Amino acid sequence: MTIDTSKLPPELLADMQAAMPVFWGNPQWTDAAEVQTVVEGRGISLADVREAQGRFERFAPLLARLFPELQGSAGRIESALLVAPGMQRAIGLSREQGALWIKADHSLPVAGSIKARGGIHEVLEFTESLALDNGLVTRDSDYSVLAGAPARALFGRYQVAVGSTGNLGLSIGVMASALGFRAAVHMSSDAKEWKKARLRARGVEVVEHTGDYAAAVAAGRREADADPHCYFVDDERSMSLMLGYSAAALHLRDQIEAAGLRVDAAHPLFVYLPCGVGGAPAGIAFGLRQLYGPHVYPFFAEPTQSPCFLVEMLAPGASVYDIGLTNRTEADGLAVPQASELAAQAMRPLLGGVFTVADDTLFADLHRVRESEDLRIEPSAAAGFSGPRMLTGTAAGRAWLRQNNLEARMPDATHLVWTTGGLFVPAEEYARFAERGAALAG
Ligand SMILES: *Cc1c(COP(=O)(O)O)cnc(C)c1O
Repeated sequence: MTIDTSKLPPELLADMQAAMPVFWGNPQWTDAAEVQTVVEGRGISLADVREAQGRFERFAPLLARLFPELQGSAGRIESALLVAPGMQRAIGLSREQGALWIKADHSLPVAGSIKARGGIHEVLEFTESLALDNGLVTRDSDYSVLAGAPARALFGRYQVAVGSTGNLGLSIGVMASALGFRAAVHMSSDAKEWKKARLRARGVEVVEHTGDYAAAVAAGRREADADPHCYFVDDERSMSLMLGYSAAALHLRDQIEAAGLRVDAAHPLFVYLPCGVGGAPAGIAFGLRQLYGPHVYPFFAEPTQSPCFLVEMLAPGASVYDIGLTNRTEADGLAVPQASELAAQAMRPLLGGVFTVADDTLFADLHRVRESEDLRIEPSAAAGFSGPRMLTGTAAGRAWLRQNNLEARMPDATHLVWTTGGLFVPAEEYARFAERGAALAG
C-alpha cells in the first residue's frame, strides 16, 4: 500500500528508515482506571482471561499424561519469575532506575517459547469444543479420557493447520499431533531448519513456502478454507490466541506477590515484550492491565528491520515494506512485516510504547544474559533487554517518563523483561549465537 508519510513524525520516520533503534512513546496511552477493550466488535474483560486460564486447568490432567515433562507441574505449562541483578549491571541499569526481573518464558516446556501460551490454548479450545459437541466430556469431566481411543478416533478425522515463522508452528504442531490430530505447518523460507526437523520428527507435515511469513499464512488459510475438516489457526486475527496469552497475567500476579514485589501508583511495573504480529505481547499486556490497571506500562520490542507494530500504530494498515524496510532479521520469531489488527485495536489505549533493536544488540544481550544469569535464550527473546535502556537512556524515553509523571517513581519501579524463547535451540546453533554475541558485547 502507499502511505502518506508526510503525516508521520519526520525524525522518527527517518531513523526507522535508516534502521536505527528508536523509542516511541504512545500518546494515546491512558491512565483511566477502566478501559473498555473491544476487538472486532466484541468486548473482552477479565472474565475472558479467567476463562482461558480455566481451560488450561481443565486440560492439565490430560497434558500431564501426554507430556512426561509436565508431570512435575501436574500439567501446568508455566515459567519462573527471576530477579536479575547480574544482567541489571550488564545492561547498565542503575538501582536508582528500579530493579530488573525476567519472566522466563524461554524455558516454557512443550513448545520452548511463549507460543506455548497462545498456540496451545487455541488447540485446546478447538479440542474442547469438538469433545463437548460429540459428548465425550462435560466441562466438569476429567479430561484424561481424551487420551482414550474414542477421542483419538474423532480427532484423527481433523487436521489442524497454521502458518508460522517457526515457534507458533512448533507449539501447534506438537500439541495437535500429541492429541491425535493430523497437523500441518505452513512455513516461510526464513524458518530455521531445526524447527522443521523437530516438527517432522513428531509426524507433523511441514509445507514450505518461498515467500515471507504473511505469504505462508495466506497459503495455509486458502488450503484450510477448502477443507471442512481442517481447523486453521490464524495468527493475524485470532482471539483465542490472544486470550491464551492473556492468562499468563494471572499466574504472574501470584509470582509477583510471592516475590514481595508491589505494583501500584508508587511502584510502576514496566514490561518489555518482544513483538511479532503482536498477539502474544498484546494478550499479555491486556491481561496485566485487567489486574494492575494503569500501574502497568507495556512496551513492545521489535527488530529495526521489522517494526510492524510501530508502523501499524503510526499508519494503520501499512507494512514495514511500505516505509522501505526489508523485514530481514535474525530474530525469526519477530520477522513479521504486518501487525495483527486485532492486537493493534486492543493496544491503542494500553500500550506504553514501542522500541526497536538492532540485530547486533540482540546477540550482545543474548551473550550477556548467559554470562550474568546463566540463561540460554534465542535472539528474538533478547529484544526486551533494550527496553530499560531505551526508556531511561534516550531523549524520547525520558520525555515519555516526564509526561507521565514517572521520573520520581523510578527507584521503586520494576522492569520486567519477557524472554520469549530458546529452550529447544540446538546446542551448536546456540553456540554460534553466543559466540557472535560475545564478540559484539566486548
Ligand atoms: C512469536 C514470538 C514472539 C511474539 O509473538 P507475536 O504474537 O508474534 O507478537 C516473541 N518472541 C518469540 C520467541 C516468538 O516466537
